[in-house]
Order: sequence, then structure tokens, then C-alpha cells
Amino acid sequence: MTQSVLVINSGSSSLKYQLIDPATGASIAKGLVERIGEEDGHIRHHYGVTTVDVNEAVPDHEVGLREVLRLFNAVGPNLNDAHIVAVGHRVVQGGKYFSGPALITDEVRRLIDDLCALAPLHNPAHLKGIDVARELLPDIPHVAVFDTAFFQSLPADTATYALDRATAEKYAIRRYGAHGTSHQYVSSLVSKMLGQSTLKQIVLHLGNGASVSAIDSGHAVDTSMGLTPLEGLVMGTRTGDIDPAVVFHIQRQSGMSADEVDTLFNKKSGLKGLTGENDMRAVRQMATEGNKDARLALDIYVTRIIKYIGSYAAEMGGVDVISFTAGIGENDAALRAEVCKRLAPFGVELDEDANRERISEPTTISSRNSSVRIMVVPTNEELAIARQAMTLI
Ligand code: ADP
Repeated sequence: MTQSVLVINSGSSSLKYQLIDPATGASIAKGLVERIGEEDGHIRHHYGVTTVDVNEAVPDHEVGLREVLRLFNAVGPNLNDAHIVAVGHRVVQGGKYFSGPALITDEVRRLIDDLCALAPLHNPAHLKGIDVARELLPDIPHVAVFDTAFFQSLPADTATYALDRATAEKYAIRRYGAHGTSHQYVSSLVSKMLGQSTLKQIVLHLGNGASVSAIDSGHAVDTSMGLTPLEGLVMGTRTGDIDPAVVFHIQRQSGMSADEVDTLFNKKSGLKGLTGENDMRAVRQMATEGNKDARLALDIYVTRIIKYIGSYAAEMGGVDVISFTAGIGENDAALRAEVCKRLAPFGVELDEDANRERISEPTTISSRNSSVRIMVVPTNEELAIARQAMTLI
């Protein structure tokens, strides 16, 4: 009998879900609820070749999930036949409490709630999904899978900021990282594929949010996201690394509040701030048409990546494999070529044909002579969550 896991990623006004067979990795059904709390709510449910769209107001997460469960039974697969053995919930911030998946009990729920101050944009929204799912599916174990868990084992010298110790301790300030589920999934897949457990790997997760990690023999030794997902690479709407004094300067000069600067850095910066567009395809199109702001944005984007690759290779004392993943990493062959060109002085050599092909499976895109193996490895965070949830069942 096939078992399945329902994976839920609950945001403040959206809820994405996927029913997965963790054994084969097959996606059985998936969908999303959007614009929760607004007049023009929307639910999309896919099952097999059928896609159903429901346009109606979805006042809250509970109404949204009830409607999703109704669609499962109306469109398929019927939940009574789906043999759901666990519900896996994505949670961005697990703080110091969680270095792996956790069965959600009232105590675990309390700890996730406790961490809302560290992830005010994410954890409260996850709790909404967790609460309604536990209420509507009370007989199935619910498991939280944390974006930060893989990075709980970062060594002290990369996890600790050079900040006054007492202040850091009082406010739990350290580098927690994020996207850990994806970095762990991609790096362990690479190890398995190459049959080597002692690889020095750099994983570039380049989506709307973007992060890079250094992984030595399966253990994360550094990552670019910090206390929050704001640190590190240039992202769709986030600055990534920036002198923290810019915050004080803006506040002093403009009178903006902390929340306003937070919004400026998280939602109005990055590619969007530099070009007006947060979608990499649009930025690339503008650059192709000769737009100078877009060209500069791409140059900043690539240079930031190169800085991290250089520092991570030095930190690990070498690098065997660099993997590209997520929306931009998997699809933007031009970006991969630009990164590899900058690494040519270190012996990196791209196989141009392999790089240009449309890639849906883990693929090596470097030439035989390359000093470092370059790969494209499609990530699958939902499958990773489903499999991690299964480890507790
Ligand atoms: P997230 O899950 O963080 O929302 P994704 O991993 O889906 O993001 O990545 C979204 C990004 O991937 C967008 O910037 C989008 O433009 C980019 N992307 C998708 N397809 C392509 C492509 N063919 N070329 C360049 N960028 C692409």
C-alpha cells in the first residue's frame, strides 16, 4: 500500500501544499491557496491531468484548508484512499531548539511561537497553517521541518557575529542560516550520485531568495544567510550583504522607522531596487536590450556569488563540486556561464553544450578537464520535507 505525506508551506496570505509519495518521490497532487484574507481569493488544485481553479474569498487559513480538503475529495485523490501517514510543515526558523525535524506537540508549537521574534515574517504564518492542519487532520502526526536545522551544526567561528557577547546572548543573535532543507537535499544527492562522502561542496541556491553554503563531508561549515534571510547574496527584493551603518545613516537622515528600513531592505531592494524588476528573466531581458541598470545589477549579482565561492573555497581548503539550484540556478544558463567564466583562472572549465541544455535531472556541466566539477541539481524542498517527516513516523 502506497503511503503519502502531505507537505504544507503556510505563508501569511498563502498556503502551498503537495501530496508526495516519499518512497518514489512522485508528486501525487499539489496546489495553493492565495490572497487569504482578501476579496479575490484563489485556490488552484492539480491532480493528474486535472487542474481546478476556485475564485472566491478565503477569509482565513482554516477556510482555505477546509476548501483544499474538499477539493481533494471532489477532484482527487480521495483522502481516505491516499494513506497520508504524516503532514510535514515547513518552518523557517527553528532557532537553537531544533537541529532536525520535530513531531509537533503543544510544547514544540510553543517553541516555534517563541521564535516569532527572530522570524516575524515567517513563523507566525507557519503557525496558522500548523494550527488549522492539526485541527482538521487530528489523527495524523504533524512534523515540523526547519530551514535552519541543517545549519545548527555550523562551527562557532562561522555561526558567531563579532558583536558584544552579552547583547548577542540576550537576544539570541547568531547566524542561523536558511534554505537548509534545500542545501542538505542537493549536497547529499551529489554525494550519493558521485559515491563520495568526503566531498567539499559549495551549493548555490538561487531563487527569489538566494543563499550559498559550504559543506564539507556532509556537514555545513558556512552559509550566507544569517540571523535572518536578509544576509548574503543579492536577491529578488533583498539587499543581501550591506554595511549595517547604512541602516543608521538612513534612519538619521530620513527619519524612517526600523520597520520602514526593514521593508526597504527586504522588499524593495536587490534586483528590484536596482532595476525595478525582481524577476531574473525580466532583468536579463532588460540587460539584453541594453539597459545599463540591469547590466550593473547582473554584474553585482555575479560578483557577490564569486566573493562567496572564493571565501568558501579558502575556508574549506578547496572545493570539489559547485552546484547550482532553484529557479535561477536551474534555468539561467547565461548566469552559470558568467559565474564559471570568472572562475576560469582557477581552472574551472564549462562544457558549453551541457550548460545550454534544458536540465531537469542532476547534471554535470563542467568539462572533463575542469579543476572543479560544476553541476546543476534541481532542488525539491517538498520531497525533502516529506522524507524528513517520514524519519519520525
Ligand atoms: P522561490 O522559490 O524563492 O520563490 P524560485 O526558486 O522559484 O523562487 O526562483 C524564482 C526565480 O527564478 C525568479 O527570479 C525567476 O525569474 C527565475 N527563473 C525562472 N526561470 C528562469 C529562466 N528560464 N531564466 C532565468 N531565471 C529564471
